[in-house]
Formats: sequence, structure tokens, C-alpha cells
Amino acid sequence: MEDNHIYSRLGIRPFINAADSYTTIGGSRMPPAVLEAMRQAAEHFVELDVLHDRIGERIAELTRNEAAMVTSGAAAGLALTVAACIAGEDPAKRRAFPHLEGLRNEVIIHRCQRNGFDMTVAHLGVTIVEIGSEAGTTARELEDAIGPRTACILYFDTSAFIRKALPLDEVVRIARSKGTAVIVDAAAQLPPVHNLWRYTQRGVDLVIFSGGKTLMGPQSTGLIVGRKELVLMCRLQAGPASDTIGRPMKVGREEMAGLYAAIELYLKHDHEEIRSRHERVVETFCNELAALGYSTNRVYPGPTGQDYPYAMFDMRGTGRTAESIMQRMKSGEPAVLIGLARDGSNQFFLNPLHVKDDEIPIIIERFRELGPVE
Ligand SMILES: *Cc1c(COP(=O)(O)O)cnc(C)c1O
Repeated sequence: MEDNHIYSRLGIRPFINAADSYTTIGGSRMPPAVLEAMRQAAEHFVELDVLHDRIGERIAELTRNEAAMVTSGAAAGLALTVAACIAGEDPAKRRAFPHLEGLRNEVIIHRCQRNGFDMTVAHLGVTIVEIGSEAGTTARELEDAIGPRTACILYFDTSAFIRKALPLDEVVRIARSKGTAVIVDAAAQLPPVHNLWRYTQRGVDLVIFSGGKTLMGPQSTGLIVGRKELVLMCRLQAGPASDTIGRPMKVGREEMAGLYAAIELYLKHDHEEIRSRHERVVETFCNELAALGYSTNRVYPGPTGQDYPYAMFDMRGTGRTAESIMQRMKSGEPAVLIGLARDGSNQFFLNPLHVKDDEIPIIIERFRELGPVE
């Protein structure tokens, strides 16, 4: 890296991302077309509301949805969609947050899907109503939980959370029969690209994606797609108006333009081609590390259930730990971040998503330096 690079000047060492689109390391990498759209957007003043509308309309068209809205992240999307379900179009209700006594203030979440992102809706003042148990969830439990105070059902569609949950289609069916909205957090659920429209086609009211993960937009962006009147209500809870709970989640014109360009690009990609590249990268990692004595596995689907493979390496019975390998890869030069198996088993993984072609031999060379596995 050049001496005058911003990270050099800050004394910060970047690394190669062979792990995942982790938020804590920057999500993904914006392609030049995205950076260029952001640069152009920054050059001129425009009416932010008009830009919001126009970009929302274009993204809705591109993603085959009734309506769309750019947010400052998928987490902001959670807050805004839930706020919209509570306050609707009513300005008095909009200003009631977080004091929601007497309003529809209950958000239904499967117990097995409870996670840190609860906090993104907690500040609205909602009451979370849990359904199901670690053993499973019944239709009856959902039906009984829906009442006059229900604002919406929040469903986290990542593979780690759906095993003990009701299938999404059943949640939608029950919600429909009771007139309740279903919001799906699909932040990291791309690919497949068709998830951009498949959830809404299945009857989900509002779907949330992260802009800075597979979409490769600015990290501080997210996307809401769904029913027109509900997306309009989400807009009402957001900036630039200053009297909204969403004002701290403002989206700048550069980020709006960046996400728009990223989605345009993502939809133009040859996804079959990307898919076969992922297979090739995984195969290369597996073959090269097998030659170093690692026990290798092609794993599918992706870490949260996405449509791509990755490579898993099993360190059980080798006398070495996945954790120590991760530390050594991270502290070497250049630093490489690898993933650790989520279930805490002694395995690590290499993910093809954010690895560039010229980084593959570098990563393999770093493994060679660690020496063969006995
Ligand atoms: C990453 C993620 C988010 C947050 O996304 P941001 O765009 O960083 O706000 C929310 N929910 C899930 C399931 C995620 O994976």
C-alpha cells in the first residue's frame, strides 16, 4: 500500500477478506461504477426528497417490486418498517415514539429468531411478543399471539434462525388471514438474485436487504422493498424531515446514488458466471489446502443459506485449532481474514465472495507459510 494511502496514514493494516460480508470489517467492496455514481451525486445540490422518490421508483422497477426505499442500512430498515407499521400515516402517532401506550405496539418474533438486531426496534418503544420455543413453533402459537395490539410480525430469514420457526409461507398465510403485516429481514440473503422479488411475490409485505453486503453498495445503505402504501409510510418515518424517529438514519444523496448504481450493476451481472467462479475458487482452495494436509469440504448453501458454496476445513484431530490458524493468518503479511465455523466446532472456512483472483495465490502462499498439517 502506498505511504500516503489513507490507511497507511492512519497506521491501520487492511486485510484480504476470505471470511464473509461481515459488517465489522466493512461489509463488501464498492465497484468503480458505484464510487463514480457517489462522486457525481456529491457534485450538485438536489432536493433530497425528490431524489429519494426517484431512486425508490427506479429500484422498485429494477427489482420488480411495487415500491422501494433506500435506508441507511438493513438495521435502519428494521426500525423504519416497524415504525411504519405502528404509526402509519398519522402525524400524531409518528411523534408518539417511544411512548406507545394505547397504540399497536407489539412486534411478534419467533423465539428461535431472537438476535442482537432486536435492539434496532427496541428504541421505538415496542413490546416484543415471542412465539414458539427452542423445540419449535406451531401455527396456533402465532394465531394466538396476533391481537389488536399487533403491529407486525418480524421474520429473520437466515438459515441459522429458521429451523425452529414456522415456514415463511405459513406465517404469511396466517398474517393475511388476520390482517397483520409481515416484515422479512433478508439482509444477507443474496444470492440468489431473485430474492429481491421472490419474497414479495410470496406475499411478504416489506423486505429488507443490506446495501453493503452482496449488493456491494455503500456499507451505510440498506433497501426496503414491498407494498406501495407501506413503503410510503416508511418514508414518512425517515429523514430528511427532522420530526421523525428515523431522522438519525438519514441517507445522503451519495449513498442513495451509490446503492442505485450497485443494484443496477448487480442485476446486470451474469449470475451463472459468478456462480461458476465461486465454484472454481472453492475448488482451488480445497485442492491447494488438501495438498497441505488439510481435511477439506465444499459446503453449500452459503453461511446464512445463500445460493453459493464455500470451503470448510476441519481441524478436529489435528492438534491444531481453527482459532490459532485464524489468528496467524490475520497477523501475517498481508493479513488474511478467514472465517470460523459458527457452531464453535474446530473448523474454519474460506469464502469466495470477496476474494479477488489475484488474492487467491496470496492466500494459498500464506497457508504454505504455516506449514503442512500432520
Ligand atoms: C447484516 C445484517 C443486518 C444489518 O445490516 P446493515 O446493513 O449493516 O444495517 C441486519 N440483519 C441481518 C440478519 C444481517 O445479517
